[in-house]
Amino acid sequence: MLRLIRDVGVDMFDVAWAMNAANLGVALDFVFPVPASNAGDARQSLGHNLYDPIYKHQFGCIADTFVGAGEGADEGAMGRQVCPCIACSPRAPSSPILHSTVDMQSDATSMTGGEATTRYEKPYSRAYIHHLLHTHEMSAHTLLMAHNVAVVSAFLAGVRRVWAETKDEDRSARFAVEVERFSDTYEESGGLFIAAKKDWEYVDKARGKGRLAREREKQEDNQDE
Ligand SMILES: [Zn+2]
Repeated sequence: MLRLIRDVGVDMFDVAWAMNAANLGVALDFVFPVPASNAGDARQSLGHNLYDPIYKHQFGCIADTFVGAGEGADEGAMGRQVCPCIACSPRAPSSPILHSTVDMQSDATSMTGGEATTRYEKPYSRAYIHHLLHTHEMSAHTLLMAHNVAVVSAFLAGVRRVWAETKDEDRSARFAVEVERFSDTYEESGGLFIAAKKDWEYVDKARGKGRLAREREKQEDNQDE
């Protein structure tokens, strides 16, 4: 996408690939422009294959490059953007759901016209979505789709910001520098998607079998290899 913007001037993209990534259990995790604090780090993956057992006990936010709105600024946010998606920033209803006039009479906020405040919950963790994927819960894909679209949306907002912040004559040069930094920071190979597709197929075909039995079989297979 960045090369198409830089070299061809494309200014419209669909995000079918990001939806497809969500279908395969991949949570996207990248940001543009790359923050200055990232300089010199090893190449990072563009996302996480949440089928992978390495995420089984990871209880943090889905993406390293984002935080949830419900996470305190003191929890290592370090200037990271808030991901507004329903997985990273789940919201409790801001007021009770009223079904009848009886409910309205017994609800203090509707009587007084009290201000309803938005309350964010902790983000859904990688471990939780890993579990949902392995138990065929559709909510895994719903959460991942919302997250992936939010990541791509923030990415394109970053593209527009770089463009808008720079003077006319410097735009192409500054944009080219940021594109290079992005491609130096992130791993471009399709390995992530290939591995995710393999895991997705494995779990998909195992439909109906008990999860623990399946996991145990897989572990035994891995030991034999
Ligand atoms: Zn998110």
